Order: sequence, then structure tokens, then C-alpha cells
Amino acid sequence: MLQLSKFPVKTLKSAPKISDNISTSHLLQAGFIRQEMAGAYNYLPLWLKVLRKIENIVREEMNAIWAQEILMSALWSREHWMETGRWDVVDVLFKLPAAEWKEYALNPTHEELVTPLMKEFIQSYKDLEFWVYQIQNKFRNEKRAKSWLLRGREFLMKDLYSFHTSEEKLLQYYENVKIAYRKVYDRLWIGKDTYETISWGGDFTTLNSHEYQTVLSIGEDNIYICQDCWVSHNEELINLETWFVCQKCGSKNHKIYKASEVGNIFPLMTKFTDAFDVKYTDADGKTNMVYMGCYGIGISRLMWVIAEYFSDEKWLVWPENIAPVTHYIIVMWENFDTAKKLAELLEKEGKEVIIDDREKVWFWQKASDADLLWIPYRIVVSDKTLESGWYELKQRLSQETQIISLDK
Ligand code: ATP
Ligand code: MG
Repeated sequence: MLQLSKFPVKTLKSAPKISDNISTSHLLQAGFIRQEMAGAYNYLPLWLKVLRKIENIVREEMNAIWAQEILMSALWSREHWMETGRWDVVDVLFKLPAAEWKEYALNPTHEELVTPLMKEFIQSYKDLEFWVYQIQNKFRNEKRAKSWLLRGREFLMKDLYSFHTSEEKLLQYYENVKIAYRKVYDRLWIGKDTYETISWGGDFTTLNSHEYQTVLSIGEDNIYICQDCWVSHNEELINLETWFVCQKCGSKNHKIYKASEVGNIFPLMTKFTDAFDVKYTDADGKTNMVYMGCYGIGISRLMWVIAEYFSDEKWLVWPENIAPVTHYIIVMWENFDTAKKLAELLEKEGKEVIIDDREKVWFWQKASDADLLWIPYRIVVSDKTLESGWYELKQRLSQETQIISLDK
């Protein structure tokens, strides 16, 4: 249980004005985040609770498609980046001088690391296929790191990498990832406005890649959605075609929406296994290239997209499964012991609880903080509620209030 009397962070009396989005202003006022500098943020306790819940949903869906979680080094040597030729090409690479005239990179993505790392474990077709992922901070020297958590210079990403014996196997797994991603966005309540969007596959493959774009008025991207079959297309594809023709049904009927990219999936084919010479021998003793796919979810951007998606002028209305906690108990000090017992009971039932047991803080102040944090259930334990039963329970969304008695 989280006792506010022992909690470091305080809410702000009024919401700071943020010009380009409403959620950041709510998050600052409620004490969820503080900005360190453009593109770098500090996550305070309640935001971290939300983060862990989102992370766990992503983790469960990755485990369900057989992926193993690993944690790779964020620092990596120049040599590996030279092998793929990307040291001088990736313009967002943070380069660090190191001892003995060596140079390191702070990884913006991990293909250069995971490919040689996994090479050791691949000899024959019997070693394939497999899947590894991590949830880790990435570093990119983004030119435009202004839109708060949307585009950070340090941000959290889930990156999954798959290794296969053939293009066919890769594409089968690719479809599994699509299903897993759909589950993630549905479980985070943004599924109906998150479009799997066809996008360019890079100059080393004729296949498309796919982005997951959540429609949002302040999103950075434009997506073109076919009004006949609802397939979504990235702007890059349209520019190549000069006008819109749906890639699935051929219709020209479309609408353009602003959206934010919360994930993407990419059939890498042999781009990285060629660079690091990752081969396997098949059942006939013939040597073949290993095929790879990579699949990202920008977890910190996703969190911000969720926050913005569920914000109105007044509040950030958390979906119940990712709210920082489920219950907020308001209690004045004379009833603290009763409230603590109640919190313990609720926790036994699997609920998560904040107790507002701050001394010398008025009831109205506690009620206003409970409103601001928008915890799904608010409980009041007072002399009055104890007289008429036990406690008052208010469901934040419906505003319904009831008195719960001890015998219930
Ligand atoms: P974008 O086009 O938005 O720059 P990207 O194509 O560079 O994204 P990837 O390199 O594939 O994206 O990264 C995977 C995911 O990480 C993206 O789908 C996005 O959600 C997130 N992401 C990428 N760059 C950032 C950033 N600077 N800050 C926060 N999240 C990011
Ligand atoms: Mg980018």
C-alpha cells in the first residue's frame, strides 16, 4: 500500500500551460513526470507504476509468441557499426569517446548487437528458429526532440528480433507478431484507433514493412485510410505513387488522418545476416543465409499516446487496467487504523491502494488530489461512513456512490 504521508511527490495547485498537448500538462500537475531537458524525462513513482503495467502487457504478448527476454548492453563498439556501414550513416547515433582512443555508440537500436550475439548459437537448421526481445532505453540524437514524451533522445523501446531458416518461415512469424501487436493495443484500449499501416520496406527488400499508427490530432505522421476496405497507408508510399490507390482493393477513396507511430514491424530478410555472415547448414548439408525480422514498440511514446488519447480538458481518464492503482482511500487521522485494515483487505483481493493519510491536510484537498490522479475507485473512511456502515465507495467513471457495510 502506498501511504501519501510517506510519499515524496506533491501535486501542483494549477496545471502548467503546455502549448501543444493537454496530457503533459495533466501529467506535470499530478506529479507523474518532470522534464530533465528536451528529449529526456524523469519518471516519478505513479508514472512508473503505469509504465510497469504497460510493459507487462507487452511482455505477456511477446512471451505468448515464444520470444525469450534478454537485456543487451546499451554501449557498443564502433567496429560492429562499421561492419554494417551504419556508423557514418545513422545520423541520430550518439558517439562517445572511450579509453585508448576507442569509440562507442549508445545504441539507437540493436540489430548491430543482436546479430553477432546470436551468431554463436546458430550452426545448423536444428538451431532455428528462435526469437529474442528486450525492453530497454534507446538513445537517439533526434533533431526534433520537442514534443514531450513523443520524441525523446532517451526513450524506452521493446525490440524483438527473430531468426529463421527461410523467407517463408520469417513471413509466417511476421503474421504471428501482427496478431500479438493487435492484442497489445486492444488490451491498452487504443486498438480501435490504431491502424496497421503499410509502409516502405527499405531499399534491400521488395516487401513492405508495417507501422502501428494511433490516430491522434497532434500526431506527427499522416496516414491514408482507404474508405472502402480500411487499409491504412503511410504517407511515404503515397508520395511514391503521386496519388492514392489502395494497395489492397485498388480504391481511390480515402481520408487522411494525423497519427502517432507506436510500433513497427520489419522483414529484415538477410540485410544484417549478410553483414555479419550468419549462415546455417540445412538437412542436406548445404549452407544458407539466416533470415531475420525486427519488431519494435516504442513503450514510452505509447504511454504518452495513451495519456493523450484518454485526456480531456480536465482529466486524464485512466483505463482501469493501467491506472497507477485501483483504489484511493481518503481518511482523516482518527480513522487511520480502520483504513489501513481496509487497505490490507483490498490488497488481499488483488486491488492496489493509495491511502491518503497525510496529517494537517484538509479533506477537500485530499478529495481534489484523488480527482486529479483519477484513480478508478475512491473510498472515504470517516466517522460519518462508519456510523452508517463501513466506507463510502465511489466509482470515478460513473460517479456512482454507495455505502459498503461490514456484513457485505
Ligand atoms: P519515427 O519514424 O517516429 O522516428 P522510427 O521509424 O525511427 O520512428 P523505429 O526505429 O522502428 O522507429 O523504433 C521503433 C518504435 O520506437 C517506433 O515505432 C516508435 O514508437 C518508437 N520511437 C522511435 N523513435 C522514438 C523517439 N525518438 N522517442 C520515442 N519513441 C520513439
Ligand atoms: Mg526515427
